[in-house]
Amino acid sequence: MPDPAAQALAGDPPVLAGDPQALAGDPRALAGDPRALARLVSLAENAAPGLRPVMRALAPFTGRGWVIGLTGPPGVGKSTVTAALVAAFRERGQRVAVLAVDPTSPFTGGALLGDRVRMQEHATDPGVFIRSMATRGHLGGLSAAAPQALRILDAAGFGVILVETVGVGQAEVEIAGLADTTLVLAAPGTGDAIQAAKAGILEVADIFVVNKSDQPGAQEAVRDLRTMIAMARRGEGDWKPPIVTTTATTGEGIADLTARLDAHWSWLASSGERDRRRLARARAEITALAVAALAVRMGGLPNGTGLDSLAARVAAGELDPFSAADELVAAASV
Ligand code: GDP
Repeated sequence: MPDPAAQALAGDPPVLAGDPQALAGDPRALAGDPRALARLVSLAENAAPGLRPVMRALAPFTGRGWVIGLTGPPGVGKSTVTAALVAAFRERGQRVAVLAVDPTSPFTGGALLGDRVRMQEHATDPGVFIRSMATRGHLGGLSAAAPQALRILDAAGFGVILVETVGVGQAEVEIAGLADTTLVLAAPGTGDAIQAAKAGILEVADIFVVNKSDQPGAQEAVRDLRTMIAMARRGEGDWKPPIVTTTATTGEGIADLTARLDAHWSWLASSGERDRRRLARARAEITALAVAALAVRMGGLPNGTGLDSLAARVAAGELDPFSAADELVAAASV
């Protein structure tokens, strides 16, 4: 199979191959050129070498978009809610990007979103960009690729960027780390609220959405969530996550949801939390990249100075592991 990163770089027209600096002139034009934008996101997905100059060029244009994360178990209605939110933000005239991150699949492309009827409503709207991203098996996974993809979409001028991920394992906690506002979805009668508490995602929810409220058990789900929210420790001035009930298939509750989203966005600004979250995000990104770079360098050290010989000395009792780690880091940092 041809290397998709190489393909992206060799694309026609060669948006990236030539001069990534050219992008810096007007990265917002990318929003009107979905193919060029898709190629850039592929660079992030594949951690391609061409990504670095692109990110350098785009840096001054980042930091404006509102990243909204949606997470919840499979089938809860993430895609349907996402589509309804896209429609609501489009009505306000905002440009919207959707990044659907699938941490369970090594495959990218259509399956996650493209074949969803509701998303297809937006597929031909030039103000909407939709992209799936598979992260399993990728170097660094979600934590490495998604932040860069989000920066690209942000620089391209999308006012709202919806990030959808299926709630499995750590993925939802990671997605919360990337978002300004995190929505946690639950469906009635599924015990989702209890699961959410177990998985530690209650803490990351800014807004709870009980979707499928047309089905029995919605009020019980709301009650369960309310009890759990009440038990959480919260300081004065902290955001108290509201619970919104929706029927995404009919659009019921979506206006309430957008109102809650707006309220959270205002609170983020007035409380200083938006800047705090963005600083924390930048710190995590830098740390992840630095650790990855160090790991690569450590792996590339010549025999005799590298990990193998240090391990042999530690195993033989000639050296303690702390000193060995110091030696390794020092050797890799030269
Ligand atoms: P996802 O896997 O979380 O993205 O869930 P989907 O958005 O694909 O929805 C799963 C199924 O539930 C689809 O058949 C939707 O049409 C349906 N669905 C979504 N929202 C609602 C809702 O509010 N009420 C009902 N009854 N069905 C819904």
